[in-house]
Amino acid sequence: MEKERREKPEFHTPVYEMALRQFDIAAARLNLDPNVAQRLRSPKRALIVSVPIRMDDGSIRVFEGYRVQHTMVLGPAKGGTRYHPDVNLGEVSALAMWMSWKCALIGLPLGGSKGGIRCNPKEMSRGELQRLTRRYTTEIFPLIGPERDIPGPDVGTDGQTMSWLMDTYSMQVGYTVPGIATGKPVNIGGSLGRIEATGRGVVYTAIEAAKRLNIDLSSSTAVIQGFGNVGYVAAKILHEMGCKVIAVSNSGGGVYNENGLDISRLYEFSKENPILSESKLGGEITNKELLELKCDILIPAALSAQIHENNAKNVKCKILAEGANGPTTPEADKILSEKGVFIIPDILANSGGVTVSYFEWVQDLQNFFWKEKEINEKLRDILVSAFESVMTLVKREKVDHRTAALMMGIKKITDAMLVRGLYP
Ligand code: NDP
Repeated sequence: MEKERREKPEFHTPVYEMALRQFDIAAARLNLDPNVAQRLRSPKRALIVSVPIRMDDGSIRVFEGYRVQHTMVLGPAKGGTRYHPDVNLGEVSALAMWMSWKCALIGLPLGGSKGGIRCNPKEMSRGELQRLTRRYTTEIFPLIGPERDIPGPDVGTDGQTMSWLMDTYSMQVGYTVPGIATGKPVNIGGSLGRIEATGRGVVYTAIEAAKRLNIDLSSSTAVIQGFGNVGYVAAKILHEMGCKVIAVSNSGGGVYNENGLDISRLYEFSKENPILSESKLGGEITNKELLELKCDILIPAALSAQIHENNAKNVKCKILAEGANGPTTPEADKILSEKGVFIIPDILANSGGVTVSYFEWVQDLQNFFWKEKEINEKLRDILVSAFESVMTLVKREKVDHRTAALMMGIKKITDAMLVRGLYP
């Protein structure tokens, strides 16, 4: 890693190195050809763009933006768009790599990519965000397209962002191209069920894990870090199933109630006030304390590297369903495995989002839209089947859940690389 850090310094941030270490473990178990492994350790393409926009006060600010494509061997690249102050090339590249493994694992004909802009969307007006998105889309235009690379939402972006992105792309080519982005509102070619898909998928996989541990979800407890798109939907569905969601948090801290939180009321409150503990629906709890609460299901649904070597030994859940990308470091993985925590790795647990994004893309290309019931059933089929395949591999290869999931994804990509051959 040290040599590589010197040779490719642009990618080597802690999150990227974490993705590499996970890859290396799986690659070693697969006895991967070193030439193939070498190629997969860095992205296929990485574009850095300067995004100048006029702020509301008349000044000009230039933001740094990225679009990274890790592999496209199985099809066009697919990946979200993150607006956050910590976005950098290494993080975006790690997220693109995870997208590759995820799409391959669940059997989608897509590669992995990711994009982002280093900015704080919470401090920007709607007008500024629109100008930022439109200029960013124009800057990454040479890389994206419905047959090349299809952006979607991620932390700090939503259906409105994807609408601006789709509109900007369409204006460039002169006609409407709904298939350029996913996560759009339904009235402009979005898919029913997409907003809920990631959180719903996290719950579908948690149900499968609970079955294996003989946990009755309707009388279980859950703790959720992150109350955004993924965390809120997972909390809502679990709450509706009778599970007690005893704590949730956002970047401002969390709220805890051992009798279970009223998720709908908390969500309504959070629209007006981001300090969840002020809802009076429970007591205050820090993000650190929340991760260490005793519960059946812990769902990290915020940022990466939240469970690490310093807090993993205090984690007391039975099932860790990773809604976020990369929430657990390799050191923590080892500690949690030794403690017997049932980990549903991110590339499996949160793959519901890209699955329904794939459905959205297919519907857009066909101009033919499906019913929500059909979408949710197809989603469940894909996730349950991927879950079972991972568990079969765990048994056969005697590896942990994450390594098995990565092995499955990586193998599908390397098999395709080998049969396609090396160009030229
Ligand atoms: P959102 O922006 O909708 O929500 C993020 C949530 O995390 C917010 O509640 C935010 O709080 C909270 N948060 C941010 N920083 C911290 C922190 N330091 N401690 C605790 N909470 C924090 O993002 P998403 O829900 O879309 O994404 C969440 C995770 O899921 C990300 O890792 C993303 O990559 C992953 N994911 C998302 C998919 C999707 O379809 N959206 C698909 C697959 C994975 P606040 O509101 O206060 O900022």
